[in-house]
Amino acid sequence: MSTATDRINLSAPWIDERDEELVLEVLRSGWLSLGPTGPRFESLLADAVDAPHCAAVSSGTAGLHLCMRLAGVGPGDEVITSPYSFVASANCAIYEGATPVFADIDPHTYNLDPDAVAAAITPRTKAIVAVDIFGYPAEYDRLLPLCEANGIAMIEDACEALGATYKGQKLGSHGHPAVWAFYPNKQMTTGEGGAVTTHAEDEHELLVSLRNQGRLETSSWLQHGRLGYNYRLDDLSAALGIGQLEKLDRILEARREVAARYGELLAGVDVEVPLPDDEDHTRSWFVYVVKLPREIDRDAVMARLADDGIATAPYLPSIHLQSYMRERYGFCEGMLPVSEDCSARTMALPFHARLERADQERVVDALRNALS
Ligand SMILES: *Cc1c(COP(=O)(O)O)cnc(C)c1O
Repeated sequence: MSTATDRINLSAPWIDERDEELVLEVLRSGWLSLGPTGPRFESLLADAVDAPHCAAVSSGTAGLHLCMRLAGVGPGDEVITSPYSFVASANCAIYEGATPVFADIDPHTYNLDPDAVAAAITPRTKAIVAVDIFGYPAEYDRLLPLCEANGIAMIEDACEALGATYKGQKLGSHGHPAVWAFYPNKQMTTGEGGAVTTHAEDEHELLVSLRNQGRLETSSWLQHGRLGYNYRLDDLSAALGIGQLEKLDRILEARREVAARYGELLAGVDVEVPLPDDEDHTRSWFVYVVKLPREIDRDAVMARLADDGIATAPYLPSIHLQSYMRERYGFCEGMLPVSEDCSARTMALPFHARLERADQERVVDALRNALS
């Protein structure tokens, strides 16, 4: 049990003895990379998201970058994505010399607004990086027809959404490449790590080559058929990933319960809570983000909670207003009003699978006090 003065952290991974055992096994085997553990992890992950192929990579960012290569994104191209995301969703386009184009979001799902995406399409648009932000599925039935009609590739940044479903189908199962991430604050972790799931064999082969320095399946170790990267996931990380996948259902269920408890405790508190699931969207709980009323000074609220030992985070700043983005592209305030308004008012509360009710009560009491 925690006491009233303990610090309450923003996130925490769920690591148990089974994870330790699996990692130790690889460590003792001496086969630390390109061994048998990577493919085992990939096959379990592919099953978990109902995709036929999976390529593990060293991070979600690496996975997004490789997907730009899959889509043939290059200099002069534009890639449409969400400003209300983690920077990697936009950076991947810049890595390949393309220009990120931000379309505004829906103020309640925090995902890309399909009408804004449609308006942002130009003859140069090569790909859309749709983000399932905070684990809530983006509007694929509206976005995919835009891709088809305009010859645009869909890349799904599902880094926050492992286990979510859209229209009754798991994210990852819809046919386009999906990118996953396993940094320690995600639903499951491999330390650092990520993966790309695909439905086309040729896409998978290209990913496997690109992550391994451009080696071809047929070539020997020092022969390279294309410009590649070292984006491999090592076997120690993959072993941890296997342990995490074995208990993924339990992890996701525990996170759902913690979220439901916040929902109850926050009834009557003047904040907008995350959108509930509906027939088409089942969220996988990544973070618990609330939106404060316009007149409230969010940073002051965060400071009050910090004084009580409660960690919060200003999830998420709008990417286009980051200093390097302003300098590079001349982006400024007012370009994406919905995203900017959400960025000013949203805040992540402590959230993880084993957060105790007493701690959640402390968080909500402190929030209620800070708001009054
Ligand atoms: C975590 C995350 C990523 C990838 O992060 P890495 O730290 O590179 O694994 C990409 N996009 C979103 C939206 C994320 O939350």
